[in-house]
Amino acid sequence: MLADAMNVLDTLQRSLRNLRLSVTDRCNLRCAYCMPEEEYKWLPKRSILSFEEIARVVRVFTSLGVDKVRITGGEPLLRRELANLVRLLAANPRLADLALTTNGVLLVEQARELRDAGLKRVTVSLDTLRPETFRALARRDDLDRVLAGIQAARDAGFPGLKLDAVMIKGANDGELCDLLDYAKSVGAELRYIEYMDVGGATRWRAADVLSRAEMLERLAARFGPIEPVREISNAPAERFRLADGTVFGIIASTTAPFCSSCDRSRLTADGMWYRCLYATTGTNLRDALRSEPDDAKLAELIAGHWRARADRGAEDRLAELSRGAYAGRDELAQNPHLEMHKRGG
Ligand code: SAM
Ligand code: SF4
Ligand code: SF4
Repeated sequence: MLADAMNVLDTLQRSLRNLRLSVTDRCNLRCAYCMPEEEYKWLPKRSILSFEEIARVVRVFTSLGVDKVRITGGEPLLRRELANLVRLLAANPRLADLALTTNGVLLVEQARELRDAGLKRVTVSLDTLRPETFRALARRDDLDRVLAGIQAARDAGFPGLKLDAVMIKGANDGELCDLLDYAKSVGAELRYIEYMDVGGATRWRAADVLSRAEMLERLAARFGPIEPVREISNAPAERFRLADGTVFGIIASTTAPFCSSCDRSRLTADGMWYRCLYATTGTNLRDALRSEPDDAKLAELIAGHWRARADRGAEDRLAELSRGAYAGRDELAQNPHLEMHKRGG
């Protein structure tokens, strides 16, 4: 019988529950809020963790209390044979949830295979329904493929399909209501995300953030009364309900961060482990994995770092009076792991 997982607490009494796995730093889009440059340096192939290494480190994490894993990137569907990784992870009895965040461009080809391999849930990022805005925001011409990908995820039978939309003033905020209508029409739950000053968002300006308060005001003007959904959860999205029953979420990471209950950490494709989205330093688990055959020793290393965790990156950012981009181009060139597409969104 499987022993109970440990419950490792950090300095703010937050558990280690949620792991985001970036499986590649590459992407087939160039979203203006994530990868605004044309040129990026990719992680060297030899540094990328194999599926077996990922499955092993996830086993260690799950022995310490992690029960939710989300596969992300970069664009995770660019990682070859991703379904094989899903199969390995799905065999871990301690994982209650195994989800994927994707831009959807390659979902038509992969949705069914991923579902069959044991993937439980899919979130597709969708910021606009207008081809010209998609071209301006994602700087590729793939909106039709994304919409077909959403249909493919539905056809594959994924329950609880979610759509994530980063709302940026002057870019896509005119579609606030249309996006909700669309999500409803495809049976998905929409989550609006406040534009964040994460690494990579070098064009970020406070003036471009559409706040949760502004979103709710505009949505109420169009759809009528909105009530909060009362639930106990550590999920970052606050959920709301329209009078017709439509439920949507808002992730107010910028104006109302949820660091005090944050149980998530991130593992990059090359095995760097970060305990906060804004952390400037992380732990090299790749070298540990490749030199340490004893899982118990790996678990000790991970637990020790989690116990020392005091990060509250988004709250610290909120406290700064004049706030610009988190990291400039030079800093990102020095420390590419700060980039959202490397760290895993
Ligand atoms: N490529 C996949 C995708 O776009 O869904 C997965 C990785 S992406 C980094 C994960 C999520 O991060 C996406 O939903 C994206 O919109 C979000 N994201 C990236 N940069 C952001 C920013 N500056 N502010 C808010 N969300 C951001
Ligand atoms: Fe856009 Fe995701 Fe690619 Fe970033 S990683 S550029 S958010 S598709
Ligand atoms: Fe968690 Fe850091 Fe994000 Fe705060 S900023 S919610 S501590 S990852």
